[in-house]
Amino acid sequence: MSGMVFDIKRYSIHDGPGIRTTVFLKGCSLRCLWCHNPESVDPGLELMHWPSRCARCYSCITACPKGAIAKDAAGAVVIDRKACDLCGKCAEACLYDAMQMVGREMSVEDVLAEVEKDRVFYEQSGGGLTLSGGDPFVQSAFAEALLDGCRARGIRTAVDTAGFSKNGVLDRMAEKTDLILYDLKCMDDARHKEFTGVSNVPIIDNLKRLAAGRTEVWVRIPLVLGVNDDDDNIRRTIEFLSSLKTIRRVGLLPYHSGGLEKARRIGQESHFRKFETPSEERIAAVEAAFREAGFEVRRGG
Ligand code: SF4
Ligand code: SF4
Repeated sequence: MSGMVFDIKRYSIHDGPGIRTTVFLKGCSLRCLWCHNPESVDPGLELMHWPSRCARCYSCITACPKGAIAKDAAGAVVIDRKACDLCGKCAEACLYDAMQMVGREMSVEDVLAEVEKDRVFYEQSGGGLTLSGGDPFVQSAFAEALLDGCRARGIRTAVDTAGFSKNGVLDRMAEKTDLILYDLKCMDDARHKEFTGVSNVPIIDNLKRLAAGRTEVWVRIPLVLGVNDDDDNIRRTIEFLSSLKTIRRVGLLPYHSGGLEKARRIGQESHFRKFETPSEERIAAVEAAFREAGFEVRRGG
């Protein structure tokens, strides 16, 4: 079995306990306008161009069999993405890594071989594999095979999810992993739809069910100025999480604009928006509100 992986990050310390290897799978059911990993949203292969690395040698133009690359009046490389069939020849021709294919078809065995490399660090630190994305549920069969493979090897796992999935898949995945990192965006459904493209009703229902189960759940909240950092949303979030009884830990992920630059590189900037990071004082106030309600709070995951 194989799946579409867009990155494997070793020595990660923000995606669960200890030192971890985070495997990012392509594909997500949400369309968050602030997405930090826009190259993860589409489940398929994509072409990324880095203007900052480009030496303007134009080897890519020569290499492209579809005539999909040209230079503009200022000499910058432009890609006709409708003409591009993602053959990857431009990325092969580019000596400066300014053209890259995002997404790599990998077998379960290939991914597990990567994960195995840091087994000694997992054992010393209490770490393991984290599946992230995107949302691992989009490639659920592949994700489950990776979790099974880790369990068979005695490697602990975590799954980072937006929670917008069918019950059966979520419950199965929860059985196969040691920890769920559950993203919660905002409590108001209309606002949730406006900023993520989907309703939060299944996300909230799924979290209620998960919290009543056996697998540990940590909640993660991206903190975006004007979207979900207001007093009303923070109060409603604390009330909801407190009602679940089993959620003890909350991670706050303050917005940063790095995703927008990545969106530009894959020609998807029109699907995302620039937001602002809440001030340091505001983030500290939100942290304090969760602490006062009895939660262990971490910034960054
Ligand atoms: S081959 Fe690479 S460095 Fe040369 S023009 Fe194309 S993207 Fe730029
Ligand atoms: S991926 Fe292939 S078709 Fe697309 S721009 Fe590069 S060389 Fe051309």
